[in-house]
Parts: sequence; C-alpha cells; structure tokens
Amino acid sequence: MRHLAIIGSGPAGYYTAEAAQKQWGDDVRVDIFDRLPVPYGLIRTGVAPDHQSIKGVSQRYEKTALSDNVRFVGNVSVGQDIRVEELQALYDAVIFATGAPNDRPLDIPGEELANVFGSAAFVGWYNGHPNFATLDPDLSGRHAVIIGMGNVALDVARILSKTQEEFAGSDIVAHALEVLDSSKLEKITILGRRGPHQIAMTPKELGELGKLKEACPRVATADLPEEDADALLEPGQRKSVGHLRSFAAIPESARSDYTKEVEFQFFGVPERILGNGKVEAIEVAQTELRDGKLIATGKVETIPCDLLVSCIGYRTSPIPGVPFDQRAGRFANDEGRILPGLYCVGWARRGPSGTIGTNRPDGFSIIEKIGADFDAEILGKTRKEGRSGFDKLAESRGLDVVTFRDWKRIEEAEEKAAREGAPREKFVRVEEMIKARG
Ligand code: NAP
Repeated sequence: MRHLAIIGSGPAGYYTAEAAQKQWGDDVRVDIFDRLPVPYGLIRTGVAPDHQSIKGVSQRYEKTALSDNVRFVGNVSVGQDIRVEELQALYDAVIFATGAPNDRPLDIPGEELANVFGSAAFVGWYNGHPNFATLDPDLSGRHAVIIGMGNVALDVARILSKTQEEFAGSDIVAHALEVLDSSKLEKITILGRRGPHQIAMTPKELGELGKLKEACPRVATADLPEEDADALLEPGQRKSVGHLRSFAAIPESARSDYTKEVEFQFFGVPERILGNGKVEAIEVAQTELRDGKLIATGKVETIPCDLLVSCIGYRTSPIPGVPFDQRAGRFANDEGRILPGLYCVGWARRGPSGTIGTNRPDGFSIIEKIGADFDAEILGKTRKEGRSGFDKLAESRGLDVVTFRDWKRIEEAEEKAAREGAPREKFVRVEEMIKARG
C-alpha cells in the first residue's frame, strides 16, 4: 500500500489525488490536508464569484473526494498542527499543493498606506476567505487604480464595476455586495508597465469588460500599435488586442450612457504611493518599449487614487525546513521534486501561471515521478502507517479534524442561507464553518 499526503485541497491537490487513483487504484491511500475546514482552495476563494461555470469543476473533485481511498483532512495546518517531518514519518510521499496565497509586494514607498491592497487580500475579501473577511476596503472615493494587466486585474476591475443586478447568480459574499452597492467609484484605471501587445489578459475575460451595464472601457487610440503589427501576435493575444481596439473605437457620444469608466493606462511603472495615512495618489514613471526593452522616458505622472489594488502576481508560503526559492517565490524544486519524499505541484511548483486546467497535467506528471521514485526504491523502503498513524497523532494532539462528510453539511448550510438566485452564502469565519458541521 502506498500512502500519500497532499497538502492543499485546491485544483492541484485534487488533480494529483485523481492521478494517484488512476495510477494505483486500490493500492493507494491519499489524505488531502487543508488548514481551512472547507475544500477547493482557489476554486472557492480565488475564482471570481461571477464565474460560476469555472467553479463547477469542483464537482469533478468531489467525485475524487468521495472515493474510499481519498480523504479530506480539513482544519489541520501543516507546519502548525503537524510538522512536515511528522508527515514524512507517516506517509511515503508528502506533496505540497499549497498554491501561492501571498501577494507579491510592489516594493515601493507608500505600500503600507490605508486602502492599498494586494489582490490576494482583495479577492479573498469579496470571495469570503476567512483571512480577509474583515478587510473593509473604503469605496467612498471616486478613483481606483489597479496595477497589473493580467486576468486578476480584470476580475478586480469587473467586480468593482458591476451593479447588484449583474451579481445575480454569483456567490459574492454579502459583506462585499453591501460595500460594492454603496461604492462611489467613477473611474477605475488599470495600469500596465508595458503596452497593449504585452497584456496578460485572455480574450474571453477581456471581452466581458465590454458588456457591463454601467461601466465602459476606455483605451486611447494613440497607445495602440499599428494594426498590421497584430498579425505577429499569437491568435489568443491578437483577439485580446482586438478587444482593446474595439474599446478604443467606442464613440464619446456613447459614453454618456455609463456612470463608470474602466480606463487602460499603458507604459507606466508605479514609483511611489502618496497619501496622508490613506492613499491619495500614485506616482508613475512613464516608459516606452525600445527593441522590446522597457525604458523610462524620465517623465513622471501623478494619478489620483482613493483605492489601490495591486494585481502583480503571488508567492507561495514557505514552510520551515522545506527548501524555498526566494526569488521565484515558490518551493525550490526540480520538476516537482524538492527532496526525497517531498514534492510540489501546481502554483507551489511552477509559480502563479496558467488556468485551473493546467494543474491537471501537473498532477499526473508528479504522480508519474512519484511512481518512478517507488520503482527506484527511493520511496517505500520502510513501511509507513499512513492515515491510521495520522488519526492516532491527531487524537493525541486534540486536533479537530473536519472530514469531507462534515464539509457536505457545511455546504448544505451555505446553500440554505443563499439569497435568492445565488448558489450559496459562504461562511466567512472558521468558527461559523465548524459550527455548521453540526
Ligand atoms: P499575471 O497574468 O502574471 O499578470 C501580472 C501582471 O502584473 C502583468 O501585467 C505584469 O506585467 C504585471 N506586473 C508584475 N510585476 C509588476 C510590477 N512590479 N509593477 C507593475 N506591474 C507588474 O498574473 P495574475 O493576473 O495574478 O494571474 C495569475 C494567473 O491566474 C494567470 O495565469 C492568469 O491567467 C490566471 N487567472 C485566470 C483567470 C481566468 O481564466 N478567468 C482569472 C484570474 C487569474 P509584465 O507583463 O510587464 O510583467
């Protein structure tokens, strides 16, 4: 029997468990640990609440979770409740699927000012992550600036732009819906340090910005490269740039129908955040691209800003004793191998890139490597106790483990509490989740 411990119950964790099942059938036992009492990681707290079709992938993970050889071990924090060495003594392989839950810092003066947030915190707030439920952003100002031109920047811009009606069918949490409803924002600037051809936004997501009820996107025609140059882009990127061109073509006369504007500002590197206790403006050094290289023009612009959300990527949380690549912000690894018996997968392995689906081949690939390590007798030299050993340790330590069955009760309570048309109203505090399990 092979005993695997997967840390993290998001997409990377569940795809890895699925791969282990496919590979070894009844000859494997997988325990999936999560520090929260609820599973699915980014599917629950990262994917935008108005993207329910993407969240639907959790049904696939549930199938894996409900089989006898895979267990959810919720409300257990590895590194705190149980040490990595203890897990290694119990399981043949320990696999980190912990994602990248921390914001990459901007590392500029003023980042500590009030109403400046990283996207992990801001997205966590509107998605009900217990760590960020009390974030309390102030949306009483007129101008928000979002830094970064990736899909997370788009999510944040769209959530800040939508009306209550447009949130119908979403699972945005009540505390966020209330604050968004009283928002006074009129302008949302998405700031990129490079140009339209270098955006990291995918076409479907960018297209959504052109279909909002009260917000209209704005792109300055002067910022767009000659149209012929689009031919050199790969097809997806060409489509995205096509959306930017259509935003640039919206006539001024049509703009008066909207109460908000989502403006794209290219070629600006954030230098300093200004404000007296709270953000008031951001200083941006203007840039241009010369032979693909980003050059500062020497000009500095100050953009008024009442709310700043930095969406420039994420970092994995280090775990004591596990080699970490500080520069890349993820575990130090060779294609998922960290040390004998220690592995990583998903964003914890490769950094925050790709779609949810990218984690599936990642999960299958790490199981192939673990299989090879069993064959080479790097793993399996000593008999491990696996889950029964963990259960003894959990009992002796008084850990309050939340099982998948418990989660189903929490889920049922969340579904019952849903406002009309919404799939659920999430609990945003760990104590509420624990209480709901009954
Ligand atoms: P991302 O795609 O890597 O985009 C990060 C953006 O931040 C880039 O525009 C980057 O500009 C900019 N940036 C980085 N450092 C900066 C700095 N110091 N100053 C100014 N700008 C800076 O990251 P993400 O948006 O966080 O998304 C993470 C992953 O999740 C991506 O693979 C994304 O596609 C995926 N995702 C997908 C969806 C969806 O499919 N619906 C939704 C959300 C996220 P440069 O290009 O100049 O470095």
